Amino acid sequence: MSWSDGTRVVRGGDEPPIPGTPLRPSPVFAAPYHLGEDPYAADFYARPGHPTLRVFEEAVGDLDGGDCLAFATGMAAISAAMFAVLRAGDRVVIPSDGYYQTRALGDGELARFGVVVEQVPTLEIADAAARGDLDGAALVLLETPSNPELDVCDIAAVAAATRATGAVLAVDNTTATPLGQRPLALGADLTIGADTKALTGHSDLLMGHVSTARTDRGRELQTRLKAWRDRTGNGPGAFDAWLAHRSMSTLDLRLTRQATTAAAVAELLADHPAATGVRWPGRPGDPSHEIAARQMLRMNGVVSATLADEAAVHALVRHSRLWLAATSFGGVHSTVDRRAQWGGDAVADGFVRFSCGIEDTADLVADLTTALDALV
Ligand SMILES: *Cc1c(COP(=O)(O)O)cnc(C)c1O
Repeated sequence: MSWSDGTRVVRGGDEPPIPGTPLRPSPVFAAPYHLGEDPYAADFYARPGHPTLRVFEEAVGDLDGGDCLAFATGMAAISAAMFAVLRAGDRVVIPSDGYYQTRALGDGELARFGVVVEQVPTLEIADAAARGDLDGAALVLLETPSNPELDVCDIAAVAAATRATGAVLAVDNTTATPLGQRPLALGADLTIGADTKALTGHSDLLMGHVSTARTDRGRELQTRLKAWRDRTGNGPGAFDAWLAHRSMSTLDLRLTRQATTAAAVAELLADHPAATGVRWPGRPGDPSHEIAARQMLRMNGVVSATLADEAAVHALVRHSRLWLAATSFGGVHSTVDRRAQWGGDAVADGFVRFSCGIEDTADLVADLTTALDALV
């Protein structure tokens, strides 16, 4: 039988129990290793791979339902997916409302190599695919739920179109995590995670991964991605890989608390005169709710909403004791990020991404209520 998520996040990558060895493998620190007469019979050099990374990749690949390759950051994983697939003259479709560095990668780097980068809003990609507008694209990248506005795109619908045209379909699954959504099972060729965020969840490391489908095409992509990582040298080291593997053990527990808090925070914001435009895919009535309920296995812990202006966001942080101003999301601390301050997203000055941590839900709601009340 296959175990449930809560078991797999703890036991994924485990070695058989050998008396005297630790329950969770310790990091193996090495650049070169002792060699035997056949240099490839065992680990020989850490850039192509190392034991600590392998157990992390095994655990994450198991959750994704594919074969995982880890990278030093989420952006390293996204760039690997792009550069391993695309060549000069190819057309790539990316979300116009997704993570801003992905767009910067397209405009600032891929375009320089002769790749034609086209941006389509997350809410329009499925219709564009059905109309045939994506025909001729070599790669289609979705990000769902999108960061930061939390729009949701029908992965299976886009997969039906890319299967017909031969485009590679990749999904940035960062917001949902492999427990919240399984893009490979919905027909994607690649699923990508910025594991800096909820998968590792302690705001203390950078990490990313790409998992490939267990199909002929997926295996071919895996070979290309592995070559890309070996040649560009952007795999994680032993300490980060070990910390990431250790941290993901609590993913199921953390997501459960985060989603519970997110539901309460979304309700609070929806009813409060200081906020408008509340978004959380788990909330009935949210524009993304219907597809999210169909396609996601569980909800994420990120909620977005708009306050009056920049000053209102600063005042919210001043009047709160628990909600900290910080970027990133998915960590154990509850945070607010005024996205307009970074200049990369087309959002209002008072647009806030709330990342629910794992503090007590009632405490978080009470503290946020106090802070919101101070704004009106
Ligand atoms: C943060 C993020 C990334 C980039 O991850 P890094 O680890 O910061 O490089 C990519 N995609 C999404 C959706 C993200 O939120």
